[in-house]
Amino acid sequence: MNKKLKIGVLSFQGSVEEHIKILNSFDDIEPIEVKTLKSLNESDGIILPGGESTTISKLLKIFNLEEPLKKRIENGMPVWGTCAGLILLAKNIEKESPHLGVMDIFVKRNAYGTQINSFVINSNIDEISKEKIPLVFIRAPWIERIEKDVKKLLKIDNHIVAARQKNMLATSFHPELTKNNEFHKYFINMVKESKGNINANILEVLEI
Ligand code: GLN
Repeated sequence: MNKKLKIGVLSFQGSVEEHIKILNSFDDIEPIEVKTLKSLNESDGIILPGGESTTISKLLKIFNLEEPLKKRIENGMPVWGTCAGLILLAKNIEKESPHLGVMDIFVKRNAYGTQINSFVINSNIDEISKEKIPLVFIRAPWIERIEKDVKKLLKIDNHIVAARQKNMLATSFHPELTKNNEFHKYFINMVKESKGNINANILEVLEI
């Protein structure tokens, strides 16, 4: 009952440490760096961090993790793609071939321009938090279109920047670069729900 949930962070490139640090702040979570099949198999859920989607995609192929990761996601493992991670999940990318191609979203890379067009805004996202939370956009993509199975979580200036489809969560921005951990809490809950751990935790609190 006291077993910690293991949440993997794909650790080839990008904002890996930042996600690990936030995950480490939760008592019931053990973050693991995923670079091998063994660490992928041990993960109850996985975060695909921001970075450079083409680089991460190449490394996934080189380390023979692309297919196993895709299969785990298709079999229901919770996954959260932040920025480049969102691009990896998309079934359609403007002017490019998809990478994992598992989520029914149509994505435009570098949609806001180059590095100097990076920005932070505060917004509330009903599904995630009652308060406004800071959202950091760095050479961010946006979601141009979603299929009907996908739930839009946030739209800014007419573009979707956060969405969920069943076990898949995608954000254009980087919650791991802020002090706010509401998005991590939300994802941890997705992982708990998929493990049926929420009921187990309630029983634990009640000492049944
Ligand atoms: N522009 C990057 C890409 O296309 C994503 C940027 C990010 O993850 N912050 O992969």
